[in-house]
Amino acid sequence: MSERLIDAGGDIVMPGMINLHNHISMVAFRGLGEYEVENLLFDVMFPLEKELLNRQLIRVSARQSAIELAMGGVTSFADMYYHEDEVAIAVKDVGLRGVLGQTVIGFPVVDSPKPYGGLAYAEDFIRKYQGDELITPAIAPHAPYTVDKEQLLAAKAISDQYDVPMLMHLVEFPNEYEMVLERHPDMANYRSEISYLDQIGFLGPKLLAAHVLYLDDADMDLLKARGVGVSHNPKANSKGASGISPAWEMMKKGLDIGLGTDGPMSSNQMDILTVMHYVASVARLRLMDATPYTPLELVEMATIGGAQALDRGDDLGSLEAGKLADLIIIDRDAPNMQPGYDVYAAIAFGAYPGNVETTIVNGQVVMHDRMIETVDLAAHEAEWTEVKSRVEAFAKTLEGGIR
Ligand SMILES: [Zn+2]
Repeated sequence: MSERLIDAGGDIVMPGMINLHNHISMVAFRGLGEYEVENLLFDVMFPLEKELLNRQLIRVSARQSAIELAMGGVTSFADMYYHEDEVAIAVKDVGLRGVLGQTVIGFPVVDSPKPYGGLAYAEDFIRKYQGDELITPAIAPHAPYTVDKEQLLAAKAISDQYDVPMLMHLVEFPNEYEMVLERHPDMANYRSEISYLDQIGFLGPKLLAAHVLYLDDADMDLLKARGVGVSHNPKANSKGASGISPAWEMMKKGLDIGLGTDGPMSSNQMDILTVMHYVASVARLRLMDATPYTPLELVEMATIGGAQALDRGDDLGSLEAGKLADLIIIDRDAPNMQPGYDVYAAIAFGAYPGNVETTIVNGQVVMHDRMIETVDLAAHEAEWTEVKSRVEAFAKTLEGGIR
């Protein structure tokens, strides 16, 4: 018998949603660089990060995002950033489940004065959090265009040695092949970026690849054969004009594919409920065919698909005896959920994050009746206000920062 009974009163009880790709600490920069910036990454993101990132900003911003994720019904998420030990503290404060990938990148960053310091940082972080109930430590080589072959393979070796996930951006941009070729001249001998990564022994079931837009049929077969998980992030890909992923084809081929948003500067929203609608809409426009994706397929991508992409299909992603207790309750009486004849259609195409009434992670009530129960919100608010004012002051001096 549980200590606490919650009467869902006929509302929808479903598995918590899984956001497979995020950089949650970047919420401090959300809404900056929204006016005709040519290259968001180089013109706004990197200058902001260079000037402002520190442990406190990363921790407080991660807490702010974890609260937002919980309020929108996301119970698990994958993150790639710096100082992931600070993200871990914040995520545990809120009580979410996080797969946290410490970034490995070929230039100096906030948590490493020399390139690739993330390799050692990741190893320490993994040792510290291995076996944690809520945190799955992971390693995150940023992308093949920012990480050399030797360090990609070093990251893979750490992932293999500790049996932890490896997170990476993959075939995200139309000109990515040329970008990667600069660091990986050997790639010229292979037919594609994905076949090259396979040949060097980098692909495997512990890899969760984000975006995955520019690939052909043979590449898809290769990802499937190697058990690579895919995060489909259509909001970020369309907002950033990167393209539209052939996610539908990957799903039909039986790849492990789930949904993500990318960081709050790239897609602004971080709920998964409204991504489902997007997934179907962009696929249907791309194919000029209104049949791809049933509502059930979309709800599965948001839940069990994400779990499978993380190799966690055995303990996450569905409501079954023996699985971890990550679940949410969605208000069925909300006007936008009515009449709700088909519950899957109501969730996939009609629901908003504000319809989530309760979020439970690992058996703990994180949010109930739209109130966060795990965090001292007043103390958090004070720290968050300080972060915001520091960011705002600098952003005003940055061209393309605040208009
Ligand atoms: Zn990303």
